Amino acid sequence: MTEGAQPLLEVGDVAKRFGGVVANDGVSLRVNAGEIVGLIGPNGSGKSTLFNLVCGTHPADSGVIRFRGRDITALTSAQIARAGMVRTFQQTRVYRGMTCMDNMRISFPSEESEAGRKSGWTSGWEWMKPPSALADANSIELLEFVGLSEKRNLLAGELSFGQQKLLELAMALVARPAMLLLDEPTAGINPTLINGVLSRLRAVNERFGVTLLVIEHNMRVIMNLAGRIYCMAHGRILAEGPAREIQGDRRVIDAYLGGQ
Ligand code: ADP
Ligand code: MG
Repeated sequence: MTEGAQPLLEVGDVAKRFGGVVANDGVSLRVNAGEIVGLIGPNGSGKSTLFNLVCGTHPADSGVIRFRGRDITALTSAQIARAGMVRTFQQTRVYRGMTCMDNMRISFPSEESEAGRKSGWTSGWEWMKPPSALADANSIELLEFVGLSEKRNLLAGELSFGQQKLLELAMALVARPAMLLLDEPTAGINPTLINGVLSRLRAVNERFGVTLLVIEHNMRVIMNLAGRIYCMAHGRILAEGPAREIQGDRRVIDAYLGGQ
């Protein structure tokens, strides 16, 4: 971690329990502006739960979450999205019966968002009205970025699984977030398409200046993408460090080999 770097996301001693299962047990981490940080760990170690707490999908039992210096622990996921932090899901959430363009249109944020105001979208239901030309131009630009502009009038359900993941990425970018949380962005994607996803994620970080926190199961992928990695096991942070160090960390190797 760079000393003096500006923290964008700070998670302090967060806990979450589901019945008898302690899914997150005193988790603390920090992501600085501009970083790509990886979050790895065996199945069931609590990675997706941490995303759910950070993005307001589930309330934390205890602990503090700060984004851009502001306490967001008690905010809803919609409020957090408007504050500039957006997530994608392990199970891709696109509307398969709607065209790619319509999926983009419903992703425009509501009135509190500056991007929403600028593009003329004033409420969550504005997409029911004829879309603004500016908003559509932005959508086409983002679809072009993920390589889907020619398929914009196809139903999302007609796309391959990997293309649906790319559509979800474009949808997440519509709100012009400062930070994206990606839950296994390459899961289930044909290995030949993985490099395409990786190069897009790097471009999102470099070209659009979006800070990334990425859950990834594929070690090769995350070592390639992230500068710094946290490894979770049994609901706790087991290790943190530069990708190269984490790769050779005995505790991390044991956690993976031992499973959970
Ligand atoms: P990971 O994403 O690292 O695979 P999860 O965060 O999904 O792990 O799960 C951590 C633990 O919390 C698991 O034991 C899982 O079964 C449990 N868990 C996660 N979400 C829920 C939920 N909504 N209800 C009950 N248990 C859950
Ligand atoms: Mg998960």
